[in-house]
Amino acid sequence: MPELPEVETVRRGLEPVLVGASLTRVRQNRPDLRFPFPDRFVERLEGATVERIDRRAKYLLAALSTGETWVTHLGMTGRFTLDGTQLGEFEESAPIAGKHEHMSFCAVHGKATTRVGFADARRFGFMGLIPTDRVEAHPWFAGLGPEPLGNGFSGAHLAETWAGKKQNVKVSLLDQRTVAGLGNIYVCEALYRARISPLIAAGKLTKPRLETLAAVIRDVLNDAIAAGGSTLRDFANAEGGQGYFQHRFDVYGREGQPCPNSREGGEGCSGVVKRIVQGGRSTFYCPSCQKR
Ligand SMILES: [Zn+2]
Repeated sequence: MPELPEVETVRRGLEPVLVGASLTRVRQNRPDLRFPFPDRFVERLEGATVERIDRRAKYLLAALSTGETWVTHLGMTGRFTLDGTQLGEFEESAPIAGKHEHMSFCAVHGKATTRVGFADARRFGFMGLIPTDRVEAHPWFAGLGPEPLGNGFSGAHLAETWAGKKQNVKVSLLDQRTVAGLGNIYVCEALYRARISPLIAAGKLTKPRLETLAAVIRDVLNDAIAAGGSTLRDFANAEGGQGYFQHRFDVYGREGQPCPNSREGGEGCSGVVKRIVQGGRSTFYCPSCQKR
């Protein structure tokens, strides 16, 4: 499933093609994805110019010259293609079947035309059109906390939000009202990098540890975005795949393996990565490094 870094990688790939481009030859090949497409979707996109493309949590937002913002959520398997080449990283190389391309259009930028397609084999993705001045109030966005890579997210924000909070820090970090778009993988990785136990009550963390936590959250996301950006070029001629590529992680998915901190240059931890379930989701951590 694409997490925030993958969505940001897709945004960065679409930006040079879409911003300033007008949308023509818009096609919609089925009535719905996870939800129905908006009414008159094709007509409302046709001829519009894209003014900018932003990301909020795991949503892509293309602000249009028509005063509407075209919102895309990639769901589990949603991906864009540019002139038939997919944008993003995928773990397998099974080609995209044509029947899975649910909408397409041409982005005309001066004399350059790029054919853009959207495919989503499992159809957990969805698209919407929202008046641009009402995006923040829309139910998809109204309850979201600050962006983890934005100025509103900090140790002070966590301290204020979590004062007296008894719920564990792992489940607390997945609450989208606290921080937007942070998924299970990156929460596990950030807690490991900050050497914070996933079991500790959120309200028990001191301000210096919360500052560390906010900083490493930004670091793990920026590292993943940087890796996605470099891999994107490598994948320029790749065939389509069925799932998003997952980076190599320190603890996520590594149950039973030695703590990475035991590698050469580490602090010599002899711990083994453990998996527990918190709030119905897997948590991977090193009980030796992340004692408190
Ligand atoms: Zn360890």
